[in-house]
Amino acid sequence: MEIRVGIGFDIHRLEEGRELVIGGVKIPYEKGWVAHSDGDIFFHALTDALLGAIGYGDIGQLFPDSDKKWEGADSSIFLKEAYRIVKEKGYSIVNIDGYIILQKPKLLYYRKKIIENTAKILDIDVSRIFIKGKTFEKIGEIGEGKAGMCEVVVLLRKGE
Ligand SMILES: [Zn+2]
Repeated sequence: MEIRVGIGFDIHRLEEGRELVIGGVKIPYEKGWVAHSDGDIFFHALTDALLGAIGYGDIGQLFPDSDKKWEGADSSIFLKEAYRIVKEKGYSIVNIDGYIILQKPKLLYYRKKIIENTAKILDIDVSRIFIKGKTFEKIGEIGEGKAGMCEVVVLLRKGE
């Protein structure tokens, strides 16, 4: 059996009047992501982690933000494509772990929904995915609610 680990990171600014989408789940809040696509930091970090684990490239290479095609795009498209490549290379997901740093709103209420939605998209069991919601203790711009960030680790396996 071969195992591989991948790590992904993402950050987006938050502004009023935009949608806050995390793990494909729309979260009611006064602010949302400033991004070329829907700005889903969890799916972006996870996409990068999957691609990084197999040394394939990164999200910016596969889906350049200079491409009009991805304007306002549903980021599950990026995630699905990265996972398709991972499976094509013969790997499957052992587990995904990550954290999301947002000063507001509290992510705890949405965690189950985010995990369930991600598991559905990847067609894996919910027990293989976990995320933690953290604040930035009011430090700096993330702490002031001007941005949110996410870091994700994924473990892949191939063969018995
Ligand atoms: Zn992003």
